[in-house]
Amino acid sequence: MFNKILIANRGEIACRVIKTAHRLGIRCVAVYSEADANARHVAMADEAFLLGPAPTSESYLRADKIIEIARNTGAQAIHPGYGFLSENTDFAKACEDNGIAFIGPPASAIAAMGSKSAAKAIMQDAGVPLVPGYHGADQSPALLKQEAEKCGFPLLLKAVAGGGGKGMRVVESMAEFDEALTSACREAKNAFGNPDMLIEKYLTQPRHVEIQVFCDQAGNGVYLAERDCSVQRRHQKVIEEAPAPGLSDETRRAMGEAAVRAAQAIDYVGAGTVEFLYDVDGSFYFMEMNTRLQVEHPVTEMITGQDLVEWQLRVAAGQPLPLAQDEIRIDGHAFEARIYAEDPDHDFLPATGTLRYLRTPSENRHVRVDTGVIEGDEVSVYYDPMIAKLIVWDDNRERALSRIAQALEEYRIAGLKTNVRFLRNLALAEPFRAADLDTGFIEKHRSLLF
Ligand code: ADP
Repeated sequence: MFNKILIANRGEIACRVIKTAHRLGIRCVAVYSEADANARHVAMADEAFLLGPAPTSESYLRADKIIEIARNTGAQAIHPGYGFLSENTDFAKACEDNGIAFIGPPASAIAAMGSKSAAKAIMQDAGVPLVPGYHGADQSPALLKQEAEKCGFPLLLKAVAGGGGKGMRVVESMAEFDEALTSACREAKNAFGNPDMLIEKYLTQPRHVEIQVFCDQAGNGVYLAERDCSVQRRHQKVIEEAPAPGLSDETRRAMGEAAVRAAQAIDYVGAGTVEFLYDVDGSFYFMEMNTRLQVEHPVTEMITGQDLVEWQLRVAAGQPLPLAQDEIRIDGHAFEARIYAEDPDHDFLPATGTLRYLRTPSENRHVRVDTGVIEGDEVSVYYDPMIAKLIVWDDNRERALSRIAQALEEYRIAGLKTNVRFLRNLALAEPFRAADLDTGFIEKHRSLLF
């Protein structure tokens, strides 16, 4: 096992990684921007080094400086967290080149999943079911139009290089196609430097169900059940849960095995997530694979009793997977709510300011709070305005839901607007209790949530 690692991230995920590393006796090097000099992750680490000014391009994205600090401090590995450099092939390669273990998959696996269309081609070959549509290289408008006709409406135009819900357009009919294509390409070019599109049949009431996979360096792979992340706003997750309600054991196994096949098809190593759309009739389709530890990984930890960061560290150090497939068990039900500094009454506009007062629910075996902030901290415009992740566990879904509603009730945050009340309304909403889930949930039940 490593003696010392560097954490190339900030906020709750940096703190989360340090916690497990310390439990395993590993020393931690933190990096930070000028805005984060007094941040919690800096205080928790054994050593900390300034990267530069607040903007991410001058701090947390400075791969060169991060590698230099790792070398100078003798860190044997770098944990990239999520976001920032976590899915950056050049960074993963630079770590390799400098003899530092990248706690994540090989650069080649990140690259293979970096393009949604290339990923779909690989998955098709691996026998993983895809949403019907077109993911070819020919991007001439005439051909795309022909493929749209073949696919039928409604369809979804999706940026090949996309992420974060950007560069996506639902197209209801051929009459709308040209205009939607032009604007989606423009948005994709601006956001990702690549205007290429793929076409997918638009499923009208799907659920977002994703599988947590893990592979070791010897090529063994397992899945650690699934998460349901159907409750979304603008294609961004709001509340997640595990296991996915109503999924049959057969479907869970079929999805899990498809996800492991997907990972093994690209010689994956470490933690990964294979995202599927799950249709009312029980069919499921590959959407994309995220080659990092996800924000919502704690719900998986709560129902499996495993520490996924520990698994990441072990696998990166060359150890085998801690458990075989038949040793992985699911127990109870977990939810995660993402607590954001944002204003639900004004279209969820990100809020900035000082956390003047912060009272979090008390933690115990049912309630866990993953956070990177303390009272008095500033939520700035520079970074993601997530304040914390509230995670709860109980024997069954109904009890877990009562727990999260109760814990949200206990939250007290003063100084800036947050989505806590919105999340509580969501947890208490009858259709949510009834697990009547699909990706249109928030739109459909607006009157209950605001
Ligand atoms: P991004 O990488 O930008 O997050 P994804 O491909 O992961 O994009 O899709 C984000 C969300 O968009 C999904 O969770 C789902 O809610 C919705 N979505 C994606 N593809 C489809 C589809 N073919 N039909 C219906 N909804 C879809």
